[in-house]
Amino acid sequence: MSKEIYKKDYLASQKEYTSQTTCSVKGCKNPVDFEVILYDEYEDGKVFYEQDSTCPFLCRFHQGENERLAKREEVVYYPYTNQGDAKGYTKYIPIREAYPQCFADG
Ligand SMILES: [Zn+2]
Repeated sequence: MSKEIYKKDYLASQKEYTSQTTCSVKGCKNPVDFEVILYDEYEDGKVFYEQDSTCPFLCRFHQGENERLAKREEVVYYPYTNQGDAKGYTKYIPIREAYPQCFADG
């Protein structure tokens, strides 16, 4: 499988994180703790890995709620992420790992 292709798709659609970015949950002004990834593995072994366009960033609090309140059925229904109810599930990448260039001093 070609990881390069997925990476290119991912970069084309992603919203860039900056130090001004806050949690994507409506009304939440918390700083971002995680970038949200929609992740799926297909039967042919291919992997879907893209920033969740419906909710690209979460704070620690809403990440916890998102996992706690998720309903796992044929697809996983999350309160905040994957609002298109796509197959697969949500992964959380610590923001310092996703955008190390924004935390160069820390
Ligand atoms: Zn939040």
